[in-house]
Amino acid sequence: EAIMSKNKSSESVKVVVRCRPLNRREESNGPAGSIVKMDIRLGQVILRNPRATASEPQKTFTFDAVYDANSKQRDLYDESVRPLIDSVLAGFNGTIFAYGQTGTGKTYTMMGAWMDPEKRGVIPNAFDHIFTHISRSQSDRQYLVRASYLEIYLEEVRDLLDPNHGNARALELRENPDSGVYSIKEIEEVMNVGNQARAVGATDMNEHSSRSHALFLITVECSQPGPDGRKHIRVGRLNLVDLAGSERQAKTGVQGERLKEAAKINLSLSALGNVISALADGRSSHVPYRDSKLTRLLQDSLGGNAKTVMVATLGPSPQHYDETLTTLRYANRAK
Ligand code: ADP
Ligand code: MG
Repeated sequence: EAIMSKNKSSESVKVVVRCRPLNRREESNGPAGSIVKMDIRLGQVILRNPRATASEPQKTFTFDAVYDANSKQRDLYDESVRPLIDSVLAGFNGTIFAYGQTGTGKTYTMMGAWMDPEKRGVIPNAFDHIFTHISRSQSDRQYLVRASYLEIYLEEVRDLLDPNHGNARALELRENPDSGVYSIKEIEEVMNVGNQARAVGATDMNEHSSRSHALFLITVECSQPGPDGRKHIRVGRLNLVDLAGSERQAKTGVQGERLKEAAKINLSLSALGNVISALADGRSSHVPYRDSKLTRLLQDSLGGNAKTVMVATLGPSPQHYDETLTTLRYANRAK
């Protein structure tokens, strides 16, 4: 009985964990190596405590899936993302979050490198998937795909495709008249325009992106004549979210704007955690959507018939043990 209900809730909320490879600097730090081990078959993360005096030398967590340093972008997409995109194409809503400390691979997982098909992340793969579906669909179906790109910074929403206006502008993506299919190039351009807008006014783009949430929102509208001869319209909405870095901001020496910033990031990430854990629990009568801009904005796509995938990203270095443990605990709570 208990197992049944557990499976039921995990149909709508899936939590997966990915660990990036050691980078060159970390490799040169000596033979300590990675503190993160994964058992792919069991979906387990085994975190080793690098402190020699630790009373508990390792901790084990279990998730819907785990992706180690050798995992391919495509593996994560096919196993953990594809079913959610299929449900968006069927007219449901869905949201994918990347959560983790800055430098652990959130942007790599969500976007990756566009030029190399092997390194394309969730967003370009999702577009590819959507466009392929459309190009193969029956000819009496008409599709309209819209994209918008937003940022939440200091609890304010900014439209990155039209930064001078408050309201989000949705860009219509049309069929490419030459090839007859939607082109991935178009989306790449949309992303580039948004990323440029994001960088404006930021003295350090990396810093800025680690302190703001980036939301890429897509709607797929399909119209098809029904048996009654009237047009039937089905709309699926997909939210792709690269969250602000989850690292705790240094407590000393932080003042003014920075302190306000830190407080707002913490607020929205904990509000998100509360919403997802209430949804995953399935028994909570109150889901606290109203506690942050982020959860308010995504309310229609979290809970109900919507599917959610949280990708928690980890670094393998002993230096970041505390943050890695915090990320695993956050992800564990969301299951
Ligand atoms: P974040 O967005 O969480 O701050 P990034 O996505 O920018 O982190 O990743 C930090 C660095 O690690 C980048 O150089 C990125 O290319 C690299 N990286 C992240 N994840 C992976 C991975 N799974 N495989 C290879 N390189 C990765
Ligand atoms: Mg990033």
